[in-house]
Amino acid sequence: MTDKVYLQNLRKPNKEHPLKVLVSACLTGIMCGYDGTANGKYPSVLKLLNRENLKLITFCPEEFSFGSPREMCDIHGGTGADVLDGNAKLLSASGEDWTEGIINASEKMLQVAQENEVELCIMMDISAACGSQVIYDGNRFDENPKYQIGMGVCAEQLTRNGFKVISQRDYASLEILYSKLDANHQLDKDAKDHHEIDWYRAYFQFD
Ligand code: SF4
Repeated sequence: MTDKVYLQNLRKPNKEHPLKVLVSACLTGIMCGYDGTANGKYPSVLKLLNRENLKLITFCPEEFSFGSPREMCDIHGGTGADVLDGNAKLLSASGEDWTEGIINASEKMLQVAQENEVELCIMMDISAACGSQVIYDGNRFDENPKYQIGMGVCAEQLTRNGFKVISQRDYASLEILYSKLDANHQLDKDAKDHHEIDWYRAYFQFD
């Protein structure tokens, strides 16, 4: 099921039965980024804060295993799926092997999702833990860093276990979510998900 169809099929929540959404903690302004910041501001998610028909559950998998601040880390030799299958590694920027820690964190994030019976996950794209569409291919601090299509370790863990993961850049899907939460929301029909934008299509040579 595509992300948009999944979003369209979500129930209409209310105050008594709010929609339960798991969010990368940094997207809500929590300062759990590698450098002790919130990794910038993402209005597409910040506008979801403080709604009575939405329950946001926040979690930062890297902070869970490595603390904050910490080194930046990236996947080497594959995607989050390959890490979970034992075929790729998560390395810190200085080369420490953080594979076991991120797998532990993905299992904890899955536990949080299951215990809270979340109905959607919104996660920070590009992150080696939380990315859902695009991640770095190797060390992002290389002279010529490369991107690849794929999920980070935690997004992959959640997806494998039946949870729907979208990113803060999936604006078309988020538009559908805003409409579910607010009957007066004017749907932006021109909004695109991350895999539909010009940069993505050009970089990965879909055009
Ligand atoms: S691991 Fe995820 S939640 Fe934590 S800072 Fe990185 S992107 Fe944000």
